[in-house]
Formats: sequence, structure tokens, C-alpha cells
Amino acid sequence: MSAEEENCVHRTVLCDTNFPVENEGPIIDLHSDFYFMGQALREARKAYAVEEVPVGAVVVHEGRIISRAWNQVETLKDATAHAEMLALTAAQEALGDWRLEKCTLYVTKEPCPMCAGAIVHCRPERVVFGCPDPKAGAAGGWINLLEASPPLNHRCDILPGVLGEECLSLLQSFFKKARERKKIERLNDSADLLI
Ligand SMILES: [Zn+2]
Repeated sequence: MSAEEENCVHRTVLCDTNFPVENEGPIIDLHSDFYFMGQALREARKAYAVEEVPVGAVVVHEGRIISRAWNQVETLKDATAHAEMLALTAAQEALGDWRLEKCTLYVTKEPCPMCAGAIVHCRPERVVFGCPDPKAGAAGGWINLLEASPPLNHRCDILPGVLGEECLSLLQSFFKKARERKKIERLNDSADLLI
């Protein structure tokens, strides 16, 4: 277990003691969907820090994270550089196979149609996402490519809403800040015109 993972785990409470235990609290299961979504959220925060739309993703194979990525559309000047696309590519490289069998993709926001198309091609078993995207989501929000009927060449199990509120509030905070930045830019532009 890495030091980072150890920090996430509360001290285990022994049951055979009669003394009160101060650090009693929930034990975080390092193999739970919540834990892995927490890791995807960490990636999303990296995107936030560099003014990218904060979406993060990790791919887990048999209980182990094999790739991590955050949205890098602006950084790479590449409209396809969504977190899922980068995480899927890195996962294929890690496994040495384009088939992501026994894999779960965790992503903080419902995948868009491009990413859902890529997911169908890579064939992970499960897709777990944080907040839904009713406007452009392709896992049931707007359309459903992952559970299409008639089905495409692969169907994934979908689990929505894991740490959904945290994932959504990060996005909301990002867009609020972006609107404020634009407002200031517009004010500066009109000030320039007056000079
Ligand atoms: Zn996408």
C-alpha cells in the first residue's frame, strides 16, 4: 500500500479491547467505487488548477488503477483530449491490449458521445460516473450509447451518481469562475475603448 493510500485509511479499530479508541471512524475500502471516484476527482482538481474544465478519470483493472487522466483540451489544443479518452488510451498501453476486459472506467462526469463511442470500442466492463450531464451525456443523460437498444457491439454496466455532488460542485465552481473572468475581460475591453 502506498503512503498516499495509507493516509486515506483510518486506523483500524481492534474489537478485543475494552479501552475507548479515539480514531474510531469509517474504514475506507480501497477497492470501493467511492475510493476510485475519489481518485478520479483528484485528477479533476488537477484540471481545475490549470483552468481546464475539471473532469478526471481513472481506469481500474482487477482492483488496481492502471491509468489516470484529466481533461486537457486547452493544454494540448486538442478537442478530443477529454479525460476519458486519455485514460482509455493510457489503459490500453498499460495492458498492451485495446480490449479493456475486467476494467472499470471511473469518470467524474457522464461521458459525452465521443467518449461513449470510444468506451464501446475499448469494451470495459463497467462505467462509473459522478454527476450526470442531461444536455450532452451519452450514458443515459441525453442519449445512451452504452446501453443502446438495439445494442452496439459492446454493452457496459453503468453506475451513475458516485460522489455526484462533489463532482458537480467542482464543475459549477469552475464555470462560475470562468463567467467572472469573462466579465472582467469585457470590462477591461470597454475601459480600453474609452481611453
Ligand atoms: Zn468526452
